[in-house]
Order: sequence, then C-alpha cells, then structure tokens
Amino acid sequence: MNFSRTTYEALGLRIFTIAALRLNGTSSTARRLEMGIVRLSDGKIVDRQEFSLPVPGHSHAGFPPGKKQIFHACRDWIGDDPIVIFGPGTVQQITEILIVSLSIPAVRILDAGELARIVFPWQEDFRAEQIARYLEIGWRADQSLVAEAEQTALVFLGLLPAILGLDPEILITLCRLLDAVPDGAGSFFMRVLALKKSAGFQGGVRLRHPARNSLGKPFLEESEETVPPVLPEEVNAFFAPQGPLSCLLPHYEQRKQQVAMARSVAVSLNQDEFLLAEAGTGVGKSLAYLVPAVLWTRKDRSRRVLIATHTKTLQDQLFRKEIPLLFEATGGAFHAVLLKGRSNYLCVRRWESLMSRTDSLSPDRRRALLPLVVWAAETRDGDIEENGAFSVDSSPSLWNQVNADDTQCLKSLCPYESHCHVQRARRAARSADLLVVNHALLFSDLVNTHTIMGAYDTLIVDEAHQFEKIATQHLGALFHMGHIIDLLQDIHAESKRSDTLLHRVDAFAARRASTDFFREIKELSEPVKGTVRAFREETAEYFRTVAETLKTRYPKEEKQKIRFRENPFQDWLAQETDALTKRLEHLAQQLSGLLQRILGEYGSAADAAVLEMEHVQLIDRLVALRRRIEHFHTSDYQDNVVWCEFDPKAQEDSIRFYSVPRDVSAILASQCYEALSRCVMTSATLTVGGRFDYMVSRLGLDRIEPERMLTQHFGSPFDYSEQATILFPTFLPSPKESGFVPEISRIIGRILETHHRGALVLFTSYQMLREVYGRIRASMDDAGFVLMAQGIDGPRSALLKRFREIPDSVLFGTNSFWEGVDVPGEALELLIITKIPFDVPTEPVFEARYEFIELTTGSGFLNYAVPEAIIRFRQGFGRLIRSESDRGAVLLLDRRAVSTQYGRLLIGSLPAEPVLPESEEALLSLLQEWFHGIPSNADRMST
Ligand code: SF4
Repeated sequence: MNFSRTTYEALGLRIFTIAALRLNGTSSTARRLEMGIVRLSDGKIVDRQEFSLPVPGHSHAGFPPGKKQIFHACRDWIGDDPIVIFGPGTVQQITEILIVSLSIPAVRILDAGELARIVFPWQEDFRAEQIARYLEIGWRADQSLVAEAEQTALVFLGLLPAILGLDPEILITLCRLLDAVPDGAGSFFMRVLALKKSAGFQGGVRLRHPARNSLGKPFLEESEETVPPVLPEEVNAFFAPQGPLSCLLPHYEQRKQQVAMARSVAVSLNQDEFLLAEAGTGVGKSLAYLVPAVLWTRKDRSRRVLIATHTKTLQDQLFRKEIPLLFEATGGAFHAVLLKGRSNYLCVRRWESLMSRTDSLSPDRRRALLPLVVWAAETRDGDIEENGAFSVDSSPSLWNQVNADDTQCLKSLCPYESHCHVQRARRAARSADLLVVNHALLFSDLVNTHTIMGAYDTLIVDEAHQFEKIATQHLGALFHMGHIIDLLQDIHAESKRSDTLLHRVDAFAARRASTDFFREIKELSEPVKGTVRAFREETAEYFRTVAETLKTRYPKEEKQKIRFRENPFQDWLAQETDALTKRLEHLAQQLSGLLQRILGEYGSAADAAVLEMEHVQLIDRLVALRRRIEHFHTSDYQDNVVWCEFDPKAQEDSIRFYSVPRDVSAILASQCYEALSRCVMTSATLTVGGRFDYMVSRLGLDRIEPERMLTQHFGSPFDYSEQATILFPTFLPSPKESGFVPEISRIIGRILETHHRGALVLFTSYQMLREVYGRIRASMDDAGFVLMAQGIDGPRSALLKRFREIPDSVLFGTNSFWEGVDVPGEALELLIITKIPFDVPTEPVFEARYEFIELTTGSGFLNYAVPEAIIRFRQGFGRLIRSESDRGAVLLLDRRAVSTQYGRLLIGSLPAEPVLPESEEALLSLLQEWFHGIPSNADRMST
C-alpha cells in the first residue's frame, strides 16, 4: 500500500533511514558493527551506504581511539532523520552503540521488530525475514547488508498499513504504556493516533486474528433413535490407498497396524467397551483413534468424545495437524474444540482494570505489556499460547495479574461476562463433538463435578502411561505460605494497590452520601486490616517455626523431601496450626460482618452485588484454605502419602506440604470410569514383558467388568532388526560400583570421538549427568564437538532446537528427555542410556507404594520398581527410531540388564534382541560395523 507524502509527513517518516546491522568478530578488539543503510523519501529508497564501525570496548567509551572519522562519516550520512532497525537479537547492544557512539537520540530510533510484536502478536517468529514471509514479501538470504536493508525497508513499509489499521482505543492504550519509554515508539504511536483522528484520513488495514481453538460449528439436530455402528469398511476406506487421507497427505502409506488399531477403537466405541491399546512407535495412534472417533460422532451428532493428552506437544499436534486434516477429509463434518485450564486465558475484566491504572506500573512492566495490547483487543480465543510475542515464562507475575484465575473471577456478576474467553471456551467445549483437553484439566473437571466441560461418556486417553501420575497429583492437596499471603494480599495490602477488597469497600463507602455510613464502614474495616497485618506476621512466624523444627529434626544441608508417617500437625505443629486455622475462621467472620453491614444498608445497589460477590469469594477461599490445612490434620497417613519439601538454604516460603492418595486405582474407577460408557486408553508403553497386567491394575481397569475390558498390542511398523543395533555391553562395572561413572565417561567419550554422529545420552540423575559432562567436556571441545547438556547449556526447547539443527551434536539429558523427544533422521543416530531408570527409592509416593506392595502382595521391587523402570526405559528407547528410514544404534551401559533376573523382563520388553559385547574392543568394532556404510553428516556435507 502506497501512502501520500502527507501521511509520511504526519508519521514523521517523510525521510528516514533503515539499517540492517550485524555484529562481527568475537574478541573485543576485533569486533565490528557492520551497517547497511538505505534512505527513504516518501516511501521510496533514494540512497544506500555501507559502514563498518569498530565496536568500542565499553559501550559508554565513545569513539575508539583514532576512529573518530568513520563514526563522523556514518553519523553525517544518517543525518537527523529517524532510523529504523529490526530487533530483537543483539538489538540492545546495537542500540547502545547508535546512541552512545553515533550520538543518535533514543527518541529517533524505532525498532520495527517491536512494532511487529505489537501488531502481529500471534506470529511466532519476529525476525525480519519471517515477518516478510507473513506479509508475502519476497526475502533473499545471504546477501549484502545494503540489500538486506532494502528488504527490511519493504518489510517496515509493509507493517505500516496494519499499524494504521489499529483502532484508536488500542493506539491510546499503546501511547499510555509508552509514555515513560525513552525510544521512538511512543512518539511514533502518538503520530499514528493523531493521523487516525485527523479528518479525512483513510488508510490502514484491519487485521483479524482467527480463532484457533475450535473447528466447525455445533450441530443442533435431534439424533435418530437407533444409531448405526461405525462399520469396519468405513474405517478401512478412510485409510485406503485411494482414501481421503491419501488424497491429503502427499507421502501417505497405509500402515496395517494403524488400520487394525482404528478398527479396534471403532469396535470399542460401537460396543461400549474399554480398550487399553499399546501402539508401538510409528503406528500413528493419533489418527488410529481420531478417525473412528470422528466417524462415530458423525453417526449421531449428540455424541461427544473427550480426548485427553498428557503433554502440550501432543495436544498441539492433534489440534494443529491431525484434527484439521480430518476436518478437511470429512468436509468439515464435525465440531472440535481445544479447551485449556483457566490460567491460559486472558481475563477481560482484569485486563481492562490494569489498563485503567497503567500509571502505577514501572516503565519495564509497561513495555512488557505492549505485545498484549493489540492481541487483547483482537483475540477471539484469549489463549495466551497464540501470542508468540509475549512469554508467560519471562513475565509470570504480569500474566498472573491479567489471567482468568478462578479466585479472581466475578462469574455471573462480571460486567464483561458476555466477552469472557473462559466462558466462551467452556460453552464451545460443551457443544463440541471432539473435545481435546489435557489430563490435568480432566481431573480438575472431575473434582469440580463436570462443571467445566459438561457431561461426557466417551473418553480417549493418550499418553496413558502418565495417567496414574497426573491423577495422583490432581487428587491430592498442597499447602504453602503463598496460599495464605496471596489471599491476605487480595483482602488488604499496605501499598496503595487499588485491587484489594478493602480498597474497593472504602471506595464503595466514599461513593455514598452518608458520612455515618462511611465512618461505620471505616470502623468495621480497620479491625480487618489489623487482622490481616497480624495474620501476615503469624504466618511468617509459623513457617519460621516449621523451618527451625525441620532443621533440627532433619539436619541435612541439601533440599529434602521429608515423608511423614505420622501427623506432624498434631504432634510438633499442633498449637501453631490450630492458631492458624482459628485466624482464618476469624477473618472470614470479620468479612461476613462487613458484608452484612453493606448489604443491610445498600443491598439493592448494583455495585453492592459485585462487592458481595468479591466478599463471598474471599470468604470461600478462607474456608477452603482452612479445610486444606485441616486436611493435613485429618489425613489418613496409611492411605495418603504426606510429605514436606524443604530446602534449609532457602526462605521459609519455599516449604511445601503435600498429601496425595497412595493408590488412585479405586478413585479412578469410581470417579472417572463409572460415568463412562466407553473408553480407549493408549500409549506406546503400556506392557511389561509383553503383558498388560501391571498397567491394568495401576489404572484400576481391573475393576471394569471383564467382558467389557480389552487389551491389545499393535506392533511398531519399524523393522528394528534392520533399522537398529541394540548393544548391552557386559564388561562395564555395575552402577553400584564406585568405578561406574569414571568408566562410562571414558567409554562415552571414546564412542563419541570415534563415531561423529548425532547422539542423545540419557541419564537418571543431574548429578551423574554433570559428572560425566565435566569429565569429557574438554576433550569434546578439543575434538570440535558441540556438546550440550540439560540444566547447563539452556532450556529444554532451545537445546532440542540446536540439537536438531547442528549436525553431529551431542545432547545430554535427564528426566524430561526420556519422553516426548522426536528427532527423526541423522540428527539422532546414537542413543546411549546410562542406567536402567529406577525411581529414587526415597521419593515419598514411590516409597509408600513400594512399602504397601511389600506388605500386601509381595515384592515391591519386582512388582513395582521393576515395571516402572521398564516402562520408562522403553520410553527412552523409543527416542531412537522415529521413522521408517531412521537407522541407529542404542547402547545400555547398565550391565544389570544382563546379569539379573529382572533384566530378562527388560530385554523381553524390547522390539528386538540385544547383542552383548563382552569387551570394549568388541563393542567398538560392532559399532564400527554398524555405522560402516552409513555416511555421517560430516561425510554427507563434504560430498
Ligand atoms: S467472567 Fe471472570 S474470567 Fe471472565 S472476564 Fe469476568 S472476571 Fe474475567
């Protein structure tokens, strides 16, 4: 879109420069800022120039000695017009150079990357080339900086229509937030606002963000009386070589295991059965349950299927990839919704409230809010996940101030209820044919008696091997200092926070004409403030006492999980805990008194209803908290696992008390399965030694009528005997021996140096990971390897991204890397598993379950520790072969797999027999043989 000279003039951009910048060199003496700059006049490029500036050793040092002229030349060329750069990346350092060495005032520097984050918050990548792609502007990589500046200019000009299309209300909010911000963005948006308000201005493009969490519309017709079943032929036809999937997937190949699983799922849905289905890696289990689920709901649109996953990765894969595919394949014949927990959604009321008092925010917080402004106005789902420009992880407290947290929700009294994202998402969820949630939300809904997603009788659980763990977490209770302090903060804060209950009570009283009423309310609210103050002190004192007692009783230096077999709240914490619960009760009574007085006088006033709701909510929270603390008093210490997490070096507010059911199988059966007519539970790892018994019992599926309960295994389509070599060396020390870590470090180093392959090394503890890393790091560096380690070289997602991108890199991971790592192809050709992943025996839940089995049915080790370890081992093992063309080697360095009885069970759980090298030379020669003829990435790149 071309704008007139007057428009550019009004924007302060009649003449401006755009710079593409790059910092080159690593040592401080050799570092240079390379600049390609173009000048634009009336939106057209009129001049180009390149500069190479030595970077001052210290950003405030001004010109490096003897280099003044080049800086002057650059400064003169740029002149006094605005300069646009495209962050992020090294933008801060570059901006400093521009400001300090080139004396360009901050107010003349405009960061187009930040503008892109503001206007296109739903994008994921804000580099100039990505924004160019989004704006459908061609972008050529690997070009001169001047050419890059020319392209960047086109991208910036491409942003202007969207900026000029913003609503004036949004622009006002942006101007308010940018008021105290020192760079060019504030004055730029002021100019945009003035231009928009000027008479006769027409221009700009209004962009609408599409809804992402729902597909299709609800179907409202009544169902027929008898609904035909999903026929096997229908399932076959869907997966057939000429079927709908093959038309949409370019490299589609029918997999018999996938079709078999889909047919079994259809039978379970038709015949009201429970199916526990293990689907080996590569079966394509998601489509194997989604296809029959869609066919089944289409027979009768009053049917709903709830699909619960454990990880967000799988949830995203279902909702962004596979469900849209089926939507297209069926001509949009169903309604699918993705529903998340409340804290993922923006609360419109809290957002508006925060925007009305931006003055109270620091400049940093205001700037951090910028990517939310346009998104908050335009989003249809209100799901923060869709906002790629705002990171909840980087700004958790900011997000907590505006998310739809249940404790802050006014429900039916909310003036924004009709625009509420949570309410809308839940309404959509209740009418969906296919509803996708995570395990955690499923359990929240169970606890809340289905008020979140409505009734359902058909459930598909993916990643079912995690279902017991998540049920345990969500069916338990947690208590820590923050629970009390946060609640008190919402009632009264000593700072001038305007969003506390007592602040609103004061404002309510001040709005009435009656000075008597005002005085009376003051008289009632002052004691509440007093109670809050005293309670804060007592809470801090309580947790100090807990910390001191724990330090004396459990005198260890490091972080501990202390399991209580008897009730500490009746023993050494009795008096203090009692005082705490009494104080909660007292505060609830005081708030009730205050509320009664308000309602007695002004019960019919509209703003009194909101105040009443807020009072009731806080009183409910006080009562719920009292019950939670009492729960620890009354917990059955046999049937519940109660423990405390405590770090003697940390503050008291890090102390956490937990109580979870020791066994969830009966709860799952009575609270979850009983309401279901049919259920499919699936995962790649549900069997131990080829049998389902262990998982059936852990998940409480042995409580289902046997004739309705089926188990079925669908083998992987991969040919492991051809695609992988499985090596279990027998010559290494046992993990119980002191020489284990030094020896495996040496072997790992030797293997990695001999075979330059993308390698994932899985550990069972950070301690071991760090030790091995420390031992081989230097030699790996010397050999030119890229070695990355979890917890040392960055967060999980960044490590995985680099691991995929850097050929032949090596990644050390623990815990979360055993599951959900999907790296097909040459990036991962060697998987080394250091130990059989047994749980830590002192982990409270594990320990309690282990002990119970020892007391009742037999060996806790064989009946609990071993099956758990095998399931986890199989998850780790599954990281290697991810597609039919993958090839690789997997090593287990724990010789117990071959020297013990339970090792046979582990070997029996693998898709192919391992080879057992008895010496280091034999191991290396087997690897040599295996990789012989498979070119490494280095070989591939050199040819
Ligand atoms: S109903 Fe609750 S979550 Fe929704 S906008 Fe109102 S206060 Fe926020």
